[in-house]
Amino acid sequence: MAHKPLIAITGASSGIGEATALAFSKAGHPLLLMARRLERMEALGLPDTVLARVDVRDRAAIAEAVKAGEARFGPVDLMFANAGVAHLADIATQPPEEWDAMIDINTKGVMNTVHAVMAGMMERRRGTLVMMSSIAGRKVYPDHTVYCGTKFFVHAVSESLREYLSAYDVRVQVISPGVIETEVLSGVKDEKTLAAYKANKIAIGGGIGPEHVADLILATYRMPQNALVQEIVLTPTRQRY
Ligand code: NDP
Repeated sequence: MAHKPLIAITGASSGIGEATALAFSKAGHPLLLMARRLERMEALGLPDTVLARVDVRDRAAIAEAVKAGEARFGPVDLMFANAGVAHLADIATQPPEEWDAMIDINTKGVMNTVHAVMAGMMERRRGTLVMMSSIAGRKVYPDHTVYCGTKFFVHAVSESLREYLSAYDVRVQVISPGVIETEVLSGVKDEKTLAAYKANKIAIGGGIGPEHVADLILATYRMPQNALVQEIVLTPTRQRY
């Protein structure tokens, strides 16, 4: 029996990427999962899955992983460019290495990810790119400076790509979550910024689970190829900003 189309996800070893892998697997899709922590993806124990230890800064490694996934399950029908890091900090004291990592992973990594599947989707005149932005890609916060820059980048690129790829019937969706309960805060080394983030999180009644983001991606993917939910903004109800 023919299987459902292949779904590829970067940053599938935890948080939103992991939740999205679980949702699509449950819906019967084969998966290509990419992240640096292979063992975390192995521990998910999902069927019909190709796992690849990939750093999204390595363009060749993503291309190689896509090749391996497609050799087994056919073309990638949805690519979720999700991998990202949030080194939130006071910009005056933040080590510049943290900017480098955010820019390299959140912007260039997203481009590397999209690049690995775009030509194939254009050729097939079918496919969906889901690009991970943030509420911080829609408005700025003073202790999110470079993180906001990277997510505004994703927003701008996704809009341009959406226009460009519409002529090829390829869908481009951008996702802007608010506070989601994941491991993302492990990237925040600036104690004052971390304390402020946590205090705000408590004030809004906590973040929401990553499965809600995953459910939306699955629901919008299931719409016909000529119907596109261009943008998803999902926050805890009490998150006003
Ligand atoms: P997690 O920290 O739980 O997940 C981040 C994922 O990205 C991990 O699987 C990690 O895998 C992967 N990743 C990080 N760096 C790299 C890299 N260089 N190469 C490959 N994979 C990498 O956090 P989230 O699930 O929250 O984050 C997912 C995305 O959602 C990020 O882009 C984040 O900016 C965005 N986001 C999160 C929000 C939140 O509140 N949680 C809100 C808005 C946006 P590994 O370390 O194994 O490589």
